[in-house]
Amino acid sequence: MRRSAHALEDMSVLLAVAHPDDEGFGTGGVLALLAGRGARLTLVCATNGDVGEISDPALATPDTLGQVRQAELRRAMAVTGVHDLRFLNYRDSGMAGTDDNRHANALMQAPPDEVIGRLVDVMRETRPQVVITHDPTGGYGHPDHVVMCRHVTAAFRLAADAAAYPEQLARDSQTWHPGLLYYVCFPRSFFRRMWQYLREAGIRPPFASDEVDTLGTPDDEVTTVVDVEPYLATKIASLNCHRTQIDPQGPFHKLPTHRLHDMMRNEYFTLALPDDAGADADLLGRLAPAAARQPGLP
Ligand SMILES: [Zn+2]
Repeated sequence: MRRSAHALEDMSVLLAVAHPDDEGFGTGGVLALLAGRGARLTLVCATNGDVGEISDPALATPDTLGQVRQAELRRAMAVTGVHDLRFLNYRDSGMAGTDDNRHANALMQAPPDEVIGRLVDVMRETRPQVVITHDPTGGYGHPDHVVMCRHVTAAFRLAADAAAYPEQLARDSQTWHPGLLYYVCFPRSFFRRMWQYLREAGIRPPFASDEVDTLGTPDDEVTTVVDVEPYLATKIASLNCHRTQIDPQGPFHKLPTHRLHDMMRNEYFTLALPDDAGADADLLGRLAPAAARQPGLP
């Protein structure tokens, strides 16, 4: 059963991502907005980002990176106001085509039934009205993002099915029908705008001019845009906790602040399920005007 008018204080929202810092750019503002308005938030992070970049060798070694990134995500979520943080402790599968793909503990090697079961278990426990995860393209094609999209979508369908993972129900758990599944996305026009901002600032964009029109989600497939401008400071402070992932020489850090803020002030989603959401379909999108009516929030 779905209700059409959710009070935010009654709302439970589950975000499931592949790596520490995946939550930041695409959903950091929405998380801060929801936390500020009393929603119950759970973040599931499937891997520890073990094979990501290390911006400064003083911060971590390849052996400690997973642990360091867990701590970074804990700090980031403390800033954002997300207190229920769960690591599934799979190993980062690395970029497509690398040896890390084949590591025995890599997320992409984990049996789908096992990962989906763990996600179903979290859904049955936290009973979210809204579930958010990566889109099917994985944003920039990271295999862990693609795998998480598939597994979270499967779990979203199975959490209500008493025949799925009945051992969980024999414990204290009950089936749960999550209301809405959103995929985080970046519209094509976002990449075009970023390309223009980089060029006007004299920065070489990390993709070619003709490539830019193939990146991201076609704009007409984006169902929901949330203006998170009132939460931009929190979003940036939270992102800055991921110190091992911040490259001050990277192209985006050289953008003028007003351009960077312009790139960060909207967050974009496609409603994936259900097909018949009706009045609930734009639930996330309706948050922003409500937030604007309450200027006293962080
Ligand atoms: Zn990632």
